[in-house]
Amino acid sequence: MATIPLYQTQKLQIYNSISGEKETFTSITEGSIGMYVCGPTVYSNVHLGNCRTFISFDLVFRYLKHLEYKVRYVRNITDAGHLENDAEEGEDKVAKKARLEQLEPMEIVQRYTLDFHQVMSKFNAIAPSIEPTATGHIVEQIEIIKTIIDNGFAYESNGSVYFDVQKFNKTNHYGKLSGRNLEDMIANTRELSAQSDKKNPQDFALWKKAEPQHIMRWPSPWSDGFPGWHLECTAMSTKYLGERFDIHGGGMDLKFPHHECEIAQGEAACGQTPVNYWMHANMLTLNGKKMSKSTGNTISPDELFSGNNNFLEKPFDASIVRFFMLQAHYRSVLDFSNDALEASEKGFYKLIDAIQTIDNLTTSADTKGFNVSAWKQECYNAMNDDFNSPILIAKLFDAVKFINTVKEQNSTISKTDLELLQQTMHAFVFDVLGLVNINETSSDISGKLSGTVELLINLRAEARANKDFATSDKIRDELLAIGIQLKDGREGTSFSLN
Ligand code: AMP
Ligand code: ZN
Repeated sequence: MATIPLYQTQKLQIYNSISGEKETFTSITEGSIGMYVCGPTVYSNVHLGNCRTFISFDLVFRYLKHLEYKVRYVRNITDAGHLENDAEEGEDKVAKKARLEQLEPMEIVQRYTLDFHQVMSKFNAIAPSIEPTATGHIVEQIEIIKTIIDNGFAYESNGSVYFDVQKFNKTNHYGKLSGRNLEDMIANTRELSAQSDKKNPQDFALWKKAEPQHIMRWPSPWSDGFPGWHLECTAMSTKYLGERFDIHGGGMDLKFPHHECEIAQGEAACGQTPVNYWMHANMLTLNGKKMSKSTGNTISPDELFSGNNNFLEKPFDASIVRFFMLQAHYRSVLDFSNDALEASEKGFYKLIDAIQTIDNLTTSADTKGFNVSAWKQECYNAMNDDFNSPILIAKLFDAVKFINTVKEQNSTISKTDLELLQQTMHAFVFDVLGLVNINETSSDISGKLSGTVELLINLRAEARANKDFATSDKIRDELLAIGIQLKDGREGTSFSLN
């Protein structure tokens, strides 16, 4: 007898940003899913905010796979066309960094793509099925522009091509994703400057003619130039997932204009709306403000793993940071703080310890005080409710509580239930949440390291109290030489790993 795939018994609800409601998910092709997520612009190291969005979609990817869908997950690399301040004018972000560092733009792209991959693998995120780049798809972008011009929704002006938003809005709705309407946008925008090539301020670039100093340029029927930022995602999603696909994701801040423009481009080129379910992940904040490269309000993953930062009292493992992020629902804002991370660390070890405890539990004739099958379905219900990881984690802690009562011999568990509990805990903790058991290895080592460094800090304090500065300096300098930096503060001395 053929087994029924999980997705047929577990009914998934996804909050669709375009309808503003949770909808029962149905894929276009039974059993398969096409998912596109806007990837990073590789002109600097990713910050923790960027990582949160990619971890949110890693959870989505993992759960869809767990439900036994065949998922093609496309996440692009933006290596051209993203101008400063997400604006229509200004320097290309990658080209600017290349100019400042006196490197080739592709050296910048390579450096920060590698950094991005390393960081995401530390967070145990699964690599997407395809990771296409904007510069690798210039031909496809030019073809889409030609089609949009032929369909009457774009015009050429001085070697650049713009999307005609007013014309498009006569037959379609520009603003349907972000809940705007064109009349309000027109009322709220300033007049075009005299030198602008656009007919209207709302129009956006599909192709820009390159100024002589703009080095990232390609030939096209209109000019030597470069594609508009929004176009690459339309070109790559269409190429790999088709004119209409299941899920499109990205950070909340990409809803407008980026995703709104993707919808307009898709509808103008293909005559149908490109995406069935739009998903938007909410922001990670630091001190209550969005983590953002442009304002400098960021913390980098490496600063966090090494402890070399001004916000936290010690280093944190990537798996703990991942757990911290998944304790919030992907559509909620999450604020980053030392206290929250420490609380997550305690929770993380409690969960991992319980999984180890399961392996050593003794079984009895029957189970008392816990219905394992019902609990398993509650775990699914949480994830089926728009990937509600915080509720799932709360359910996992119900199991932790029960495991500990069995261990203390205040309850009992049958052999069948023990196996089911074991399997389900493993599936949700490791496969779906993507956590790693760092218990045996790094926590042990980091515990011993902290203890050793604390001992040296105390010996140094004693040496200083005795005015033995030769010894105190020796301790500080030799620790620094092996990458451990001591920091003297009002509350004593702390350390970080460089
Ligand atoms: P970028 O490299 O600027 O194109 O951004 C890559 C992704 O990170 C996009 O999906 C952004 O929406 C997302 N992002 C940027 N800042 C944050 C933040 N503070 N919290 C969560 N996601 C963010
Ligand atoms: Zn995009």
